[in-house]
Amino acid sequence: MKLFHRPTIVISQCLGFAACRYNGVTIPDPFVEQLKPYVTYLPVCAEVEIGLGVPRDPIRIVLINNEPRLLQPATGADVTEKMRAFAATYLTALTEVDGFILKGRSPSCGIKDVKVYRGVEKGTASTNKGRGFFAQAVLERFGHLPVEEEGRLTNFTIREHFLTRLFTLADFRAVKATGSMGELVRFHSDNKLLLMAYSESQLRLMGPLVANREKKPPAEVIAAYETHLWKALAHPARRTAGINVLMHALGYFSDKLTSAEKAYFLDALEKYRAEKVPLSVPVSLLGVWIARFKEPYLSRQTFFAPYPEELVTISDSGKGRDLG
Ligand code: SF4
Repeated sequence: MKLFHRPTIVISQCLGFAACRYNGVTIPDPFVEQLKPYVTYLPVCAEVEIGLGVPRDPIRIVLINNEPRLLQPATGADVTEKMRAFAATYLTALTEVDGFILKGRSPSCGIKDVKVYRGVEKGTASTNKGRGFFAQAVLERFGHLPVEEEGRLTNFTIREHFLTRLFTLADFRAVKATGSMGELVRFHSDNKLLLMAYSESQLRLMGPLVANREKKPPAEVIAAYETHLWKALAHPARRTAGINVLMHALGYFSDKLTSAEKAYFLDALEKYRAEKVPLSVPVSLLGVWIARFKEPYLSRQTFFAPYPEELVTISDSGKGRDLG
């Protein structure tokens, strides 16, 4: 059974870690709770860190001369520069991090659809197109990592993509720490099918790097590989690419299965293509054959289990299908 490296996640502190919201409450989140045994959380509340107490008068994003500022209407305070300075200091000091879970809709932590006001007065018309100031700084510095809001993570597809990136990048961080070409070769080999599903074009560029015919120093190769890994995992795997990988894997058993077994698998694949069953249905069929025929290459492939099995839940809010 694969052992997963423990990812480190920076998380909005109000998501169950402290009662630090403006109104003195906390908002525990079931998915955040479920992840606890498998990750290391670094909770942070940007608004408390810049000296706003609990409870506090709420802050909001206000357009001043077309520039978004972070204001506290009740006191007239402008905390924009304080927030920027805190975010820069905090994020610069972060060395080991694999992802972020931020509180949605907050003028500090929200990554999308945050209210932007046209003035501080009550009832001022607003748009919903903003981004929190702390979240903006996170995305500028760590946009290559999985950064999500707790609300979007109730969507099955978004959650699966988040977890796959998170655990793959945590595994890679451990490879990087060894500085070993052997470990890089192992990582690349174990993730071959996952990378094939995510981005064949990046995979084609990563292979020659790992082969390292020019005998470049390992640190240089690993750094270049990491950049391609970030790009490869930036967008969710396409359904057709996943089907190609499953067909490729089926090829390992083509002379071992009966025609009825193959037909059953191809039927499951068709249902997956038609969005009638999740990827886990054809994957679990292959999993049975991998175990039965003791296929060593496939049994190491992260594609079949990119994150701990206990975290696989098929619940889906049906919301947040926009992955952008
Ligand atoms: S959303 Fe962010 S800034 Fe607001 S209370 Fe939660 S952690 Fe603090």
